[in-house]
Amino acid sequence: MTFVNIQENYSLRHLISFKTGGEARFFVEIESLEQLIEIKKKAVQQELPFFLLGRGTNVVVSDKGFNGYVAHLARSFSDLSIEETILKAKAGTPLSRIARYSVQESLKGIHLLTGVPGTLGGAVYMNAGAYGQEISQTIVEVKSLNEEGQIICRTAAECEFSYRHSIFQENKECIFEVTLQLEEGEQEVLEKEMKAAIQKRIESQPLNYPSAGSVFKKPAEGSAWALIEEAGLKGTSIGGASVSSKHANFIVNKNNASAQDIYDLSNLVIETVLKKSGVKLEREIIFLGDF
Ligand SMILES: Cc1cc2nc3c(=O)[nH]c(=O)nc-3n(C[C@H](O)[C@H](O)[C@H](O)COP(=O)(O)OP(=O)(O)OC[C@H]3O[C@@H](n4cnc5c(N)ncnc54)[C@H](O)[C@@H]3O)c2cc1C
Repeated sequence: MTFVNIQENYSLRHLISFKTGGEARFFVEIESLEQLIEIKKKAVQQELPFFLLGRGTNVVVSDKGFNGYVAHLARSFSDLSIEETILKAKAGTPLSRIARYSVQESLKGIHLLTGVPGTLGGAVYMNAGAYGQEISQTIVEVKSLNEEGQIICRTAAECEFSYRHSIFQENKECIFEVTLQLEEGEQEVLEKEMKAAIQKRIESQPLNYPSAGSVFKKPAEGSAWALIEEAGLKGTSIGGASVSSKHANFIVNKNNASAQDIYDLSNLVIETVLKKSGVKLEREIIFLGDF
């Protein structure tokens, strides 16, 4: 049996970009695949839910906590290597680190994703994208661990990617390694485009407040931010959570917001937009636990 250091009633606040929310009943920093298998087994035996946390940049944990196991990939799951145009990285590696490294190596394909603040695993799970690039466009292979503790290798087609969706949202597999196919590019051009994308974020996003990025997915009828703005919701607050006055698709933690404030405000936005424009917005952010 592998030794696993399980911490009880562990506050997740510092691991969540919104900087709020409750505790995990059990929390584990995962150092190896063996530990991951072990902890998933424990959760099944105790009939408790299991949640793999990346950098927590797309998650809100209930103020009442999460009655289950939360696992977090430790530093041993953060590493990358490049051979010609093939980039291989472990799932806990920050996406921005990978994107910057690809530019240093004059490789094109993910350089506009530099400002997405999560891990590679989280990016594959969410099929993260920005400024016309999506992580799915570069995937060659994703290695994951399934519910039975078996290693699965999937091609991009087998990941069933679509807008902010991958098969991992349904199958509960834990991604641990990803291989990307990039293209040769001109370093100077890539660097310039990367910097422009970062600048655009600074100008358009409320990065001075804790948030989880865009709260709602882009609906078929247009952009979420425009619908929220048209519904007059910019600046609307519940408790310490506010619809950003800089970017209407962001909810920000302006003043010690609770997780419930964020959830309730997202509900208010859905209801108001539906009434005003007939469009039902769908949340992109994951709300973990009871709300
Ligand atoms: C300021 C800001 C800007 C943002 N901009 C963008 C943007 O431009 N585009 C965009 O797409 N997103 C954006 N996001 C949202 C977020 O950064 C992405 O969704 C990111 O990919 C989430 O990665 P994470 O590691 O933080 O995942 P988490 O938030 O920790 O988890 C998200 C989901 O992924 C799952 N997950 C995480 N790691 C793994 C793994 N190894 N295996 C299986 N499942 C896993 C979790 O269980 C959870 O269900 C932004 C967020 C912020 C705060």
